[in-house]
Amino acid sequence: MKSNGFVKTLLHWYANHKRDLPWRQEPLPYNIWLSEIILQQTQVKQGLPYYERFITLFPNVWVLARSTEQQVLKAWQGLGYYSRARNLHKAAQYICNTHKGVIPNTYAQLLKVPGIGPYTAAAIASIAFLKPHAVVDGNVIRVLARLYGIREAVNRPAGLKQVQALATQLLYKADAGTYNQAIMEFGALQCKPQSPPCSICPFAEHCEAHRSHTVHLIPHKIKAKPVRQRHLHVLLAGPAKGRYFMRQRTSGDVWQGLYEFVCLEHNSATLTPAGQHASHKQVMQACGKRKLLKVYTHKLSHQTLNVKVYTVALQPEQIPGYKAYTIKQIKNLPVSQLTAQIGHDAGIF
Ligand code: SF4
Repeated sequence: MKSNGFVKTLLHWYANHKRDLPWRQEPLPYNIWLSEIILQQTQVKQGLPYYERFITLFPNVWVLARSTEQQVLKAWQGLGYYSRARNLHKAAQYICNTHKGVIPNTYAQLLKVPGIGPYTAAAIASIAFLKPHAVVDGNVIRVLARLYGIREAVNRPAGLKQVQALATQLLYKADAGTYNQAIMEFGALQCKPQSPPCSICPFAEHCEAHRSHTVHLIPHKIKAKPVRQRHLHVLLAGPAKGRYFMRQRTSGDVWQGLYEFVCLEHNSATLTPAGQHASHKQVMQACGKRKLLKVYTHKLSHQTLNVKVYTVALQPEQIPGYKAYTIKQIKNLPVSQLTAQIGHDAGIF
């Protein structure tokens, strides 16, 4: 298919089908940046209430920069991939310190901002500043791989390179922002991952995957590593009624910066003093009188958390590193979706 025919059809489709989204009504650089970070690995429907919340709580880059990381994490709570929130906060500080609060307007400068990679830099540069950079995200990869019949694995360098070259070649430079939004919207609404409605697609006649009945096979991806199984034992304990021991998670694992109840990780689903963690010996002894409350299976992108939650009596000296918090305080702490669910099910918050 010729690139001008493709662009014309795509822009026509977009004009008739685009969703009315708040950052499209007011495409300020701050709004575009915020929406792009929130929508990484997140569907529009899920991200929309978070966008509204962030715009209300942090209406500009200065307010975001002056907030605490804890406030930002709390506003992000439930959206997952929390490094995005930490980077958003760091980025706001970087933009205020280095660019006097003005979001940089070139692809190269945008790439220096924490949390902004090639995709986000291209999206902001094109949508907010009308610069000619092609975006390549999951939607764009799927659309181009199907239309042009790319059989190579798109999660390997050779396949990705082909898609990137095509994306650059097809880019409508006169209005790169609208073009980029159009192709991403087309992937999200029309050329969906599963069973796209090809019979009503404006490209059906030209689409290689449709013509060769291989839509379900494209884009081809090489399977990721097997999911890691982890066994966590969460202890709901406190020094007095209405108070619970919690701590802030540190780096090197999921949910960095979020708070959690007492949590022991074992290499099995059974909590025994014979477990690997010698430092937990005292806790294990106290756990003799534990009561199992509930069992959860919580899936993350590359790991499955098998979680058992107990109530148990513990003394502060048995769990160094944890502090007791009142229920009112806990409600203001940023926690993972799993911890929120545990707290909710146990009637804590
Ligand atoms: S014909 Fe089907 S597979 Fe091809 S671009 Fe359209 S929706 Fe996607």
